[in-house]
Amino acid sequence: MVNEIDGFRRSSAARSQESIVTAHRAGTGNRLLAALPPADLGLLTPYFQKVSFEPDAVLVRSDDELDPVYFPHSGAIAFMLDMPDGQTVATTLMGREGALASFSVLGPSLSSVTAIARVAGKASLISAAKFRAAFEQSAAIRNVVQVHARSVLLQLQHVAACNALHRVDGRMARWLLQLHDRVPDDRLPVTQEALAQLVGVRRTTVTLTMSKLREAGAVPSDGRGFVEIDRARLEKVACDCYSLMQRKIDRMYCEELAAPPPALCEQTLSAWRGRADVAVPR
Ligand SMILES: [Zn+2]
Repeated sequence: MVNEIDGFRRSSAARSQESIVTAHRAGTGNRLLAALPPADLGLLTPYFQKVSFEPDAVLVRSDDELDPVYFPHSGAIAFMLDMPDGQTVATTLMGREGALASFSVLGPSLSSVTAIARVAGKASLISAAKFRAAFEQSAAIRNVVQVHARSVLLQLQHVAACNALHRVDGRMARWLLQLHDRVPDDRLPVTQEALAQLVGVRRTTVTLTMSKLREAGAVPSDGRGFVEIDRARLEKVACDCYSLMQRKIDRMYCEELAAPPPALCEQTLSAWRGRADVAVPR
């Protein structure tokens, strides 16, 4: 625990003073599983299978049954809406704070989106039937699922507003910040093709927008399959959606789950409160 907090402080200190502090970037392992008491976690662990996923791996296709349930320990998974004309756009991004297909507890159902790994990672997976049985037995599992469900809804609402109201450069900066929260350093393993799909624009628009971000100093370098970011500068380019969304999700996870270390949450929430422009609502 101490190492986790120290590591977070070191990485924060290396960034600009003005960079947004978020509990999302700290620690390792799945945050929902980490929040479960041992007895409740024990309802799941005998059935877990450990898997790795590579970039572009399709974990769930649109219209597939939501089975199995994945608990990512690392990496980033994008949920993509496929349009009939072949265009795709991301609706949400998930890392180790989430559980893919956890909504299967509501009953057998089909996925409305395609889940694609954007950053390689590892996950524990369990059959939807075993997960549902544990969910019915454990109040702690029901709690982590409902916190996660509310955070996904929050993200969906902000992404919907962002897509309707904000410019491409602000939106792309927001997705890059969301990816950065799920990657250990400032070099994001993302292609321009993947960025085009996340933002829902053509490759030529990505090329133009990247040159704007480079001019602003928000992207010091980029090349085949990577984008290096300067987080503090990228935050200045991003629309308000990232900070609005992230402070609400941080607060929810810090106040309602035991997983993030209390000292880290205190630091994160007081940092949010200290920013006059993004005061945490009480
Ligand atoms: Zn926005």
